[in-house]
Amino acid sequence: MLTRAERAASPADHIATHGPERPVHFFASAVLDANLARFRAGFPGLVTYAVKANPAEHVLRQLWAGGLHGFDVASPEEIALVARLCPGAAMHYNNPVRTPAEIRFALAAGMQSWSVDDGRELDKLLAAGLPQGTEIAVRFRLAVSGAVYNFGSKFGADETGAAQLLQRVQAAGMTPALTFHVGTQCADPAAYGSYVRAAAAISGQAGVSVARLNVGGGFPSGRDGNPVDLEPFFAEIRSAMAAFATAPQLVCEPGRGMVADAFAFGVQVKSLRDSRVYLTDGIYGGLAEFTSMTIPRYRVFGPDGASRKGAERQVTVFGPTCDSIDRLPGTLAMPEDLDEGDWIVFGSMGAYLTGMTTRFNGYGQWDSVEVASV
Ligand SMILES: *Cc1c(COP(=O)(O)O)cnc(C)c1O
Repeated sequence: MLTRAERAASPADHIATHGPERPVHFFASAVLDANLARFRAGFPGLVTYAVKANPAEHVLRQLWAGGLHGFDVASPEEIALVARLCPGAAMHYNNPVRTPAEIRFALAAGMQSWSVDDGRELDKLLAAGLPQGTEIAVRFRLAVSGAVYNFGSKFGADETGAAQLLQRVQAAGMTPALTFHVGTQCADPAAYGSYVRAAAAISGQAGVSVARLNVGGGFPSGRDGNPVDLEPFFAEIRSAMAAFATAPQLVCEPGRGMVADAFAFGVQVKSLRDSRVYLTDGIYGGLAEFTSMTIPRYRVFGPDGASRKGAERQVTVFGPTCDSIDRLPGTLAMPEDLDEGDWIVFGSMGAYLTGMTTRFNGYGQWDSVEVASV
């Protein structure tokens, strides 16, 4: 539940006023509105949202109310959630691996688009009796670097395989489309350009013109502290579209780039021993992503909300559970005057936190609080 009463100006303000006893997920709705506006103004096509990045009901409702019309969903649970909160929204089922039961569920929910990256998965879709003309987007991958986390290593046909799948989609009477995912927190606009040009080449090689090209997610958040400029990404996509003889309509499905910067996550120092710091949450909880991604920018406050300003020293940081792997990778720079009861507020924590948290050892609970700015 999101607490809106007595809205504080900032995380530090909330900490000082309320003295929270659990970790706090801070949310600034204005940032989510601004991110949606940036995508809608700058992206030259349909903007959808990847639900898995943050399936909180208030997030989905706000995006829907703000004029976002489509969602990338990956499971019956996500489909049911979107159908309940955003009735009539377009849903794109872009998890290319599905059981027959999952396909039936999605079909009954009126799924508008499906991705495939493999012939057997296409067989399953066709056997399930998708209505003629349904969009099937072939997911492909390139060996492109630039993403912190490489989605290409799990899903995506190679270019030749993608061309063959496109031909099969067309022959089956479905609407052919192409899709890719450059990998999350992609810092390099050129990655999108390479993929868009490859999509044009695949379409040409197959002799199949595609109705839509879904450029996936991967757009970066400001987790490293630099403000994000999405315009170079949009410009790169726009200019690479010249590679198509007939330009398909564009779709994007940001997750992190849409929500991450609208949230911060505050955890408290529960114990301090020389250069070892124990926090009230760790890798089994809200900090789950820290094991596979760089640690985002953070600020340190005393319980009174004042910034700690001491010279920095490197410390090893542990989560609260009794498992020795519950430790943040490497070391973190912390002010010398860090004390028990202090707060560490990590920025850009809106993506891949809700939904990734376990209740291991009885932890993983936090307060959700709206603040004016994070
Ligand atoms: C996870 C995912 C996204 C969102 O990725 P971000 O890096 O969070 O933007 C988009 N599309 C698909 C198919 C995904 O699996």
